[in-house]
Amino acid sequence: MKYYNMGIDEVIEKLQSNSDGLSKNDVDYRLKKYGNNVIKEAKKESMFKKFLNQFKDLMILILCIAAVISFVISFVNKESYVDSISIITIVILNAILGFVQELKADKALDSLKKMQTTKTKVKRNGNIIIVDSCDVVVGDILVLEAGDTVCADARVIYEASLKCDESSLTGESMAVLKTSKKLDGDVPLAMRKNMIYSGTSVVYGKCLAIVTATGMNTEFGLIAKSLNEGEKEITPLEKKINEISKVLSFTIMCIIAVMFVIGLVKGLKITEVIMLSISLAVAAIPEGLPAVITITLSLGVSNMAKNKAVIRKMSSVETLGCTEVICSDKTGTITQNKMTVRKVYFNNKVCDVDKDKIDNNLIEIMALNNDVSKNGDEYIGDPTEIALYHVCENHLVDIDDLRNKFIRVHEVPFDSERKMMSTVHKYESCYKIFTKGSFDSIIKCCSRIYEDGNIIDLDLKKKKQLKKVEAKLSGDAYRILAFAFKELPSSYDSDTDLENDLIFIGMSCMIDPPRTDVKEAIECCKKANIKPIMITGDSIDTAVAISKEIGILTSRDQAITGTDLDKLSKSELKKKVKDYSVYARVSPMNKLDIVSAWQDNHVIVAMTGDGVNDAPALKKADIGVGMGITGTEVSKNVSDVILTDDSFSTIVTAVKEGRRIYDNIRNVLVYLLTGNITEIIIVFIGMLFGFEIFLPIQLLYINLVTDSIPAIALAFEDSADDIMSRKIRKKDSSFFTQFLTARIILPSVLKSLIVLFIYFTSIKIYSVDVASTMAFLSLILFEMIFAISCRNLKNSILRKGLFKNKYLNKSMIGLIIMQLLIFLTPIKHIFNIADLSIIQIAYCIILVLLVFFIDEVTKEIIAKHFKD
Ligand code: ATP
Repeated sequence: MKYYNMGIDEVIEKLQSNSDGLSKNDVDYRLKKYGNNVIKEAKKESMFKKFLNQFKDLMILILCIAAVISFVISFVNKESYVDSISIITIVILNAILGFVQELKADKALDSLKKMQTTKTKVKRNGNIIIVDSCDVVVGDILVLEAGDTVCADARVIYEASLKCDESSLTGESMAVLKTSKKLDGDVPLAMRKNMIYSGTSVVYGKCLAIVTATGMNTEFGLIAKSLNEGEKEITPLEKKINEISKVLSFTIMCIIAVMFVIGLVKGLKITEVIMLSISLAVAAIPEGLPAVITITLSLGVSNMAKNKAVIRKMSSVETLGCTEVICSDKTGTITQNKMTVRKVYFNNKVCDVDKDKIDNNLIEIMALNNDVSKNGDEYIGDPTEIALYHVCENHLVDIDDLRNKFIRVHEVPFDSERKMMSTVHKYESCYKIFTKGSFDSIIKCCSRIYEDGNIIDLDLKKKKQLKKVEAKLSGDAYRILAFAFKELPSSYDSDTDLENDLIFIGMSCMIDPPRTDVKEAIECCKKANIKPIMITGDSIDTAVAISKEIGILTSRDQAITGTDLDKLSKSELKKKVKDYSVYARVSPMNKLDIVSAWQDNHVIVAMTGDGVNDAPALKKADIGVGMGITGTEVSKNVSDVILTDDSFSTIVTAVKEGRRIYDNIRNVLVYLLTGNITEIIIVFIGMLFGFEIFLPIQLLYINLVTDSIPAIALAFEDSADDIMSRKIRKKDSSFFTQFLTARIILPSVLKSLIVLFIYFTSIKIYSVDVASTMAFLSLILFEMIFAISCRNLKNSILRKGLFKNKYLNKSMIGLIIMQLLIFLTPIKHIFNIADLSIIQIAYCIILVLLVFFIDEVTKEIIAKHFKD
């Protein structure tokens, strides 16, 4: 159907709708008949394929090869297949563990996706309401403004300076000016100026448009056919860890080759050498590592979502922890965005809105130059305008009546670049233009002033006087909006600039109190060496007053306006950017300059943004922070993190959470690698002396059960006490710092020496089997107790509280039950476990505890002497 060839009435009739929009019954019927407005997703990877993917890992392949070799040797030697069967069983168990973790991670990510469902405004039954985009049906009337994404194909039926970015559909990077006029003949998609398309976005102006196609029937749906789920993002941290795994696998191969030669030189049987090599391969490979890292990240991300920060890009979790500067909008993020008009200035007087009478002309402008609509008790629109709407209501004005009487015939929408908006209304014998906006932008357009019913010249003296009043009110932290008007002849041309020679009428003074938790969050930033910065479109006086109150700035020198910022060259700004904490009257372009200047100083910047023009700065920032409540869809789409409560303190919480996740991944890595290195040392030294201290199955059991379960529990560890007071980690700093390397090597050496000591002292007194069982028991005990120790790498856990991580406590209880099953039931035969006496068990426990205490005491010494 060529809707672009039809007139507006014809389209509305064809789609069986009307200018008030559809009724609820119509919508329900259409939803049932034609389905939701969604682009189908491509088929997801099957469960089976997901399971098979678990075997793709190089380390797991080495294990599979080890199992096959072990099987062949057992077959040739006519021995039992217990080793190969156990390796395969454990590889399969590992795959199941990885598979379950992946499902959990997917589920966490799916629920994150659900939190990002888009909303849109529609007109139904004469009311403007907000609905989920997926519930939009053909015939619905979309109400769109700058920053909205278009969620369905639609024919424009009313527009004001409407411009759309259609690059996602047509490749055209320039915004396209739209019209509501009918087009003739065949028109290619990119030229259909009266149509807007799903997947594109409104970058300027506003419109009403009637939906002509939804879901898979839209132009986007026809091209996309089905939406491929984006490739799963691998974060830099995961990449680093995959690299570590590769290096480890390579090292293992080399060690095995060396061992092989040593074994042969020592005259060992070839099958024996092979079996020893298999043990080593099994010992050295941290099988559970990738799964544990993935689960730590996805658990952290779900936790952040619970704390109102929805991560859109996994890699930002890591970057968040390194944030050094947070640039935040004022309105709504630092303040509550609950505007209330307290005072009004007109006729040379500042009046109290609650007590004094306000000039009718001013009230009329507040009501007519206002886009707020009321649906029952709900007000839909911009909080600034809602505040003005309340003033009109409180002065008993029937706003609907006024709006019907003086119909709006033209408008120039609000734009944060211009900082003002105008509407033109039809009066009995003329037209009137009403303009409201920031004081600076309005005063520039005014040449006259309305005072006591008279219109007089606005000379320089008068302007100065007004400026003084404005500065005084702004200094009291009021957000000022100025109002102006003028009559237009009936022959006025809407295409010319109408916002000139205006008559200044007055100002409104709103308060927008700071959020209650923001002062504390700013203090926390300062302690954490993070610089909080406030960026606002508001005036410098208001900005300074508020930022002083919450502690962002101490002296006015730390504040600068967008105009002064424009005067600085790039290199000057790079030098001076550190001096400013408050930027007032900024344009969205200024935001980009501020981000770039910080980045030129190699500083990691988080930047908030809500408007369509903020998108470039959000993209450029290391962490683009979108606003869940007030943010436009366009700004949300380019953000790395979305705050569901728009609050500044949520950014600080997210930074803290980012640091906690990074800490926990480090803890897990130290825990697992220390375990593996300990095993390598023991197997290697044992081999040099001709002993097979551990069976492959024992090592696999330790790696996959005794190690992996506590490692997952470590992901739940609370943040360390000093997490927000320590030096900020540099983003490109090496993961393996001197400290981390020492923290892995020293305990590994200590643990392996003790296990070897236990083995070699007991082999002299008891049998080989008893000695091997004692070594196995002490290694298990080490792994369990070391998991507790790894909850904090720098400070003694005895101070933090031994049993504070309840997940770890539960996993410990589970592990103890498993050890009892392995040591006391017939399963012990598979593990070649001998019965131990109380004395033998006590001997192991005492030595392990001794090492644990030594390790706890030396922790802080290591932290002091090795650079991190
Ligand atoms: P922030 O940048 O911190 O979110 P802001 O709301 O002041 O704060 P903008 O939305 O860009 O930033 O607004 C800039 C200025 O434009 C405001 O200070 C106000 O003077 C004016 N303004 C805001 N909303 C409107 C509106 N609906 N109509 C006319 N002028 C407005």
